[in-house]
This record gives sequence, C-alpha cells and structure tokens, in this order.
Amino acid sequence: MEGKVSMRGEDYEKDFIPKDYLTTFYSFGSGTVAEMEILKFSLQNLYQTFSAGGVGGDVLIDIGSGPTIYQLLSACEVFREIIVTDYTPQNLQELQKWLKKEPGAYDWSSIVQHVCELEGDRSRWQEKEAKLRKTVTRVLRCDVTKTPPLGSAQVPLADCVLTFLAMECACPDVETYRAALRRLAGLLKPGGHLVTLVTLRFQHYMVGPKKFSGVYLEKETVEKAIQDAGCQVLRCNCVSLSYSEAYCVNDGLCFVVARKGPSA
Ligand code: SAH
Repeated sequence: MEGKVSMRGEDYEKDFIPKDYLTTFYSFGSGTVAEMEILKFSLQNLYQTFSAGGVGGDVLIDIGSGPTIYQLLSACEVFREIIVTDYTPQNLQELQKWLKKEPGAYDWSSIVQHVCELEGDRSRWQEKEAKLRKTVTRVLRCDVTKTPPLGSAQVPLADCVLTFLAMECACPDVETYRAALRRLAGLLKPGGHLVTLVTLRFQHYMVGPKKFSGVYLEKETVEKAIQDAGCQVLRCNCVSLSYSEAYCVNDGLCFVVARKGPSA
C-alpha cells in the first residue's frame, strides 16, 4: 500500500525482504558512501570492544540479528557460543543460508576482509568465516515486545547481549523501548555486557519500496533506558553520521557498551 509506514511484527513478516535490506545497507565497496561510513564505524567499535577491549566469555546472544552477520565478526573470536535471533522467519532463513554456505547466500567476504584487516591479518578471512559458522550454535525467533523475548526456547544466561539497529525498529515508542531493554538485561548474567548500536533521532527507513518506522531517540533517552534496566554505561560513542536520506531518516548514531550490575 503506497504511503503506508510499517512498524509492527506482521509488517516485518510480510514486507521485510532480506536481500533488499542487504543490498541497500551492506554493499561494501560498491554501495553509497554514507552507508559504508556507518558500517566502518560499527566494525571499528566492535573490534575495539571484542578484540582489544576485553569483552568476551561463554555465550553471546544477538537480538534482532536481521539477515546480517557483520556484527558478529569480531565477537566470534572471543565467545564460545553465539545465538542469533530475529522476529522474521525470512531473516533467519537468510542467516541459515550463509551459515550453511547454501547457493544464493549473501556474500560478506569484503566485509569479513575489512574486519580481518582491522584485526591485523586480512589474509585470514576464510578462517574467520569458518570460525563464525562454527560459533553460531542456534538461530531462534524472538520478539522483544514479549516476555520472555525468546518464547519457549531455553537459553543460558548470556555473558553478552548484542543488539544492533534493531530496538529502535522493533519499538513504536519510548515506553516499549525501555521495556525491551529491561527484557534484554534479563537475558544477561550479573556482570555481563550489553553492547548496542542505536540510530539517534530515527524516523523511518526503507527496505526496497517499503517504509518502516520506529522510535525517535535522543542519546540521553538511550542512556537512561540502559541505566534503568540495571546496567552501567561504560562507553558511549556518539557520532553525527547519518544514512543517505533516501534510505533512512536519522540524525546521528550511538554505540554503547554497558555492564549489568551484580544484583540487577
Ligand atoms: N541487526 C541487523 C538488522 C537490523 S534491521 C543490522 O544491524 O543490520 C531491524 C531488525 O529488527 C529486523 O531484522 C526486524 O526483523 C527486527 N525486528 C522487528 N521487530 C522485532 C521484534 N519485535 N523483536 C525482535 N526483532 C524485531
């Protein structure tokens, strides 16, 4: 329907085409400059957090993974097990395609090479792909607006919950966003880390011809929601990067590392 703005789960299930999303936002090398700069910012922060920053452990749960794996490329070196999750079955299928090296899987190789370069050895990219495929042990459905967000799936408490560019899309308003963050903190062990990338002052984004909206967030709202979920903000790296206006209307991005308190 023309002019319709989607945000609810059913809309994601019907209208979110994984390949449209991937080619718009993750065409590294051949894509638009703004999208590439944002991806580089993400990869650099992930590298700093997981390779250099000492965040690691047993289990990492990625919430709202979408059809993407870039957010796991540094983490897979420092966690024993990674659980990926999304609301929509087609995104989980797209992930499975890559994990199982099926025909038609998205080609992440230039992005994997970039991360290997950050980590000091571009030539080991195939080794990293193999490592990530081995480390992702489960692919689960999730709905962050529900308690529990992973439904009936039994998962261990995580050492790290990662969520990239997903909560602002999944939540229509600040109250829902704050409740979703409390659910994410509930998946963490005491002392575990919450690592998130948020689009600030987000209005909507395009997946092919379909428009999706979400919640408009300021940096302070994000920090307060994280703190009120029982986590201490350790690092908050905000930049004024924005997407190409035709693809996403936002103003700034914020990368946050927080730690859940001992008794939260
Ligand atoms: N993390 C990926 C994808 C972000 S796109 C990246 O960094 O690019 C936003 C994602 O949020 C989509 O994959 C969508 O399916 C997911 N999503 C939407 N509603 C959700 C909900 N209620 N619970 C969990 N994920 C949801």
